[in-house]
Amino acid sequence: MKIHEYQAKELLATYKVQVQPGLVAYSPSQAVDIANKVTHEGPWVVKAQVHAGGRGKAGGVKFCKTTQEVKEAAEKMMSKPLVTHQTGPDGVDVTKLLVVKAVDIAHELYCALVLDRKTSSIVIMASREGGMEIEEVAEKTPDKIFKICVDPAMGHSAYQSRILAYDLGLPKELHAQFETMIQGMTKLFIEKDCSLVEINPLAITTDNQLMALDAKVTIDDNALFRHFDIKELFDPSQEDPIDLEAAKWNLNYIHLDGNIGCMVNGAGLAMATMDMIKMAGGEPANFLDVGGGASSDMVREAFKILISDKKVKGIFVNIFGGIMKCDVLAKGIVEAVTQVGLKIPLVVRLEGTNVEQGRKLLNDSKLNIFATSDMGEAATLIVKKVME
Ligand code: GDP
Ligand code: MN
Repeated sequence: MKIHEYQAKELLATYKVQVQPGLVAYSPSQAVDIANKVTHEGPWVVKAQVHAGGRGKAGGVKFCKTTQEVKEAAEKMMSKPLVTHQTGPDGVDVTKLLVVKAVDIAHELYCALVLDRKTSSIVIMASREGGMEIEEVAEKTPDKIFKICVDPAMGHSAYQSRILAYDLGLPKELHAQFETMIQGMTKLFIEKDCSLVEINPLAITTDNQLMALDAKVTIDDNALFRHFDIKELFDPSQEDPIDLEAAKWNLNYIHLDGNIGCMVNGAGLAMATMDMIKMAGGEPANFLDVGGGASSDMVREAFKILISDKKVKGIFVNIFGGIMKCDVLAKGIVEAVTQVGLKIPLVVRLEGTNVEQGRKLLNDSKLNIFATSDMGEAATLIVKKVME
């Protein structure tokens, strides 16, 4: 789960990472009130709160010298969706702004913690090349990124951040601050089950303070059950409505870019189905594993999700009924189509438990279904149908 910059900074502050004084505003006039509350005189930075990076280059971060400028920046940001290289062409609506006291930057560093599955450890990465394009640094000059591994069971030791401080060439007077910061970030990462804690830029201010000017924190969804405080930070407005609907029904759904909607049971069969569609020259619109114990209600809602996706031009149902019974599946499909109609081709490949009852239900429904028991044939057929 992603959280907003302002939420990430509040968390980091409780772990002794220095951040600028600032608060969230929900309107331009409130942004001005908050600017006055945060500091008596400017400058300020007004920042769009969206779950996407690259705001600086897209007009989502504005440096303001007066409260009038704060007001204007806020009005402009909230007036239209923000489009960054991470949002897609439609962008995202800006309903919240973070207003902070601006600092004078002497240098912008990069610092992040991620999980490394290969070494089963936390990797702390840091670079002198902070600011906006760390991906480019990683690609073109990877030697400018320094890394150390932290055993999650041991936690962070002071010598590790000292190594990084020397690698980064930090002045001696900043080493203690750096150590406190890395310790705080690591503690946060472990205690809140994060998959990412990133500070970019980590500023060295002109008065020699280390300060997190931007923050990204992502929490492992599988650990949310034990972090009620974090769960509350979820912002549904930042999620794709289709994903929200799928999550509501406990469906294992991942949206993709193609135009063939897939409904499959079992993750392995779902992967194989996507491969077969690709081999037949098509592109899957999603990964969807309805699971073993799906009810016909779940199947119905899953099918409705597929139909509601405007990009879907055909549906391929590929079920091998084991625990999942074919008649339960057929009932769900028929219900969905009765409720919302079906204007696109549907190819069904059904085998396994209760297959006869399932086929009968589909046949009796008089739906326009292309049924086959051969998986390869079914994939070829649906690809052909969406191309027609
Ligand atoms: P991002 O583009 O979405 O990653 O947004 P950031 O929060 O990282 O802001 C982008 C850039 O704005 C930073 O790299 C800084 O150069 C600049 N910036 C942000 N806060 C301040 C500040 O307090 N003072 C100054 N001078 N620049 C800032
Ligand atoms: Mn940033």
